[in-house]
This record gives sequence, C-alpha cells and structure tokens, in this order.
Amino acid sequence: ASPSPADPSRYDVEALRTRLRPHRDGRVDDSIPALAAADPDLCAIALALPDGSVRGSAEAGVRVSVQSAVKPFLFALALLDTDGGALERVGIEPTGESFDAITLETGTGRPPNPMVNAGALLTASLVDGTGPEGRMQRIAAGLAAFAGRELDVDDEVAHDEHLRGDRNHALAHLLRAEGVLDASADDAVAVYARACATLVDAETLAIMGATLAGGGVNPRTGDRVIPARVARDVVSVMATCGMYDGSGRWMRAVGVPAKSSVSGGIVLAARGGLGAAIISPPLDAQGTSVRGHVASELLSEDLGLHAFGG
Ligand code: GLN
Repeated sequence: ASPSPADPSRYDVEALRTRLRPHRDGRVDDSIPALAAADPDLCAIALALPDGSVRGSAEAGVRVSVQSAVKPFLFALALLDTDGGALERVGIEPTGESFDAITLETGTGRPPNPMVNAGALLTASLVDGTGPEGRMQRIAAGLAAFAGRELDVDDEVAHDEHLRGDRNHALAHLLRAEGVLDASADDAVAVYARACATLVDAETLAIMGATLAGGGVNPRTGDRVIPARVARDVVSVMATCGMYDGSGRWMRAVGVPAKSSVSGGIVLAARGGLGAAIISPPLDAQGTSVRGHVASELLSEDLGLHAFGG
C-alpha cells in the first residue's frame, strides 16, 4: 500500500528539486534566440495552496516567457468573453500530433483544441478588445487577474515569435481560409505571440494554476476571475489535450491536468484547488520539460494527486 499523502503545506519542494538533479536528458528549444539562450540548469518548483500561500524552491522567482502554458488562460478568457460561444469555434478533442501541426478539424475547419497552436491563435482572437492592441491589453489584464499581479512582457520574444512564427502564420491563414478566424492572420499571430512572451516565474505560474484548480477564484487575491463552470471546462481540456501527443502518457503517469510549454514551464491544476508549476528548459520529444515531467510524477505520488487514485 502507498504511504499516506504528504501535507502540501509542509511539502519540501527543495528536496524534490534535489531529486531532479540526476535527470539531465532533453534539449532546450532553439526556435528563437531568447529561448535558445535559456539556462539548461534552471530548475524551479512552486506549489500554490488554496489558502493563497506559496511554497517555492530556489529559483522560483526566475522569469521565463510563459509560451504555451498561456493557452489554458487564453481559452478561459475566450470562454468568458464570448459567454461560452468559443466552444462553437474550437474543438476539444486531442490530436495525437505535435503542438504546431498544420491540422484543422475534419468537416468543420475548426482548430482541433485550444491547447495546440491553431486553437490558441483562435482563442487569443476571441477575447474582447478593439483591434490587436485592444486584445493584447485585455489578455494582459486577464493574465494579471489569474496571477494576482501585473506581468511584464518580453518585447524581444514577442517580436521574434511574431516575425519567425512561419507555422503560426500558415495556421492563421488556414483558419482564415476556413472562415473560422475573423481577425487578419498577421494580427492573430501578433496577439498570440505577445501572450506567449508574457514573463512568469514558477511562483506566479503556480498561482495561475491554483486559480483554475480552485474553480476560478484566485487564492491570493480572493477575486473571482472566471465562473466555476469555465474553470471546469478549461481544466477538463487540459486533462485531455494539455501535453499534445504526450497527453495519454502524462495522464497515466501524473494524473493531474496540466499544460506544457517550450520554455520548459509546466502549470498544473490539481483537485482540491492546488496549483503547481515547474520550470526547467530541457524538453522531451513532445515539448514537455523532462525534469518537469519527473517532478510532476513525484509530486503526484507524494501528495496523492492522481485523478484516478492509487
Ligand atoms: N510560442 C510557441 C509557438 O507558438 C509556443 C509553443 C509551445 O510552447 N509549445 O510556437
């Protein structure tokens, strides 16, 4: 029988960090200079508890661009601003393909789900706001509500991803061709790229995860950011699609809804309102942080977080 789960409020995140040290596999993303320059040894862990307290390891205040870990929050804001209408514009089925696959849903031409690039390009275009600047402002305000504080954006990352995101431009044009995207393709990529360039540290990302896990209320500020039903919808889709073509493996091993990113961040939304984040840049073949995956498995085991028990 497994030992009884540890108390998250006393959990030793530093000891967990030490257990990750031997895991040295994976490759740092090199799609843009800022990501290629990431420190492969950076390793940060944070837990955000339902009472608003945070347990952070060493380096839990080191910032990286949020990248695809922003996608659940873009989906949440799109659901909020369209009163659920976003669910007619984007699918919710896993793809079994990589994050930037040039694939849309057969028959409808919709993005397959909001956790792949096609979906996030669309959800970022569905938030309220006049023109790309208005939508960028709305996203910044929305992310600040999830985080409980204003977040900076790395302008160089935003610029480079806008400029170099050829696959994202291709996807946006495809969405236009299918009549699914109202914004111009270039505006859609610009807004999405800026959202991806938002800077977060592990502590902030953990609080954002806890806000989703806690039914939409930020545990730090006490503010309701999204309705409970929206939070449930977002966490459900994280569970099935959050790790792209690694989602099945992740659910079996970790059993906690989560979202990965190319900067090496992972945001987790566990039952009972617990949020967690790991940031470690070297990635596996699915674009998931290698140490982040190991850390999440250990965390799930230690705290008894697996959705299906045992
Ligand atoms: N900015 C990246 C992209 O759209 C995000 C991808 C990711 O984190 N998986 O290509």
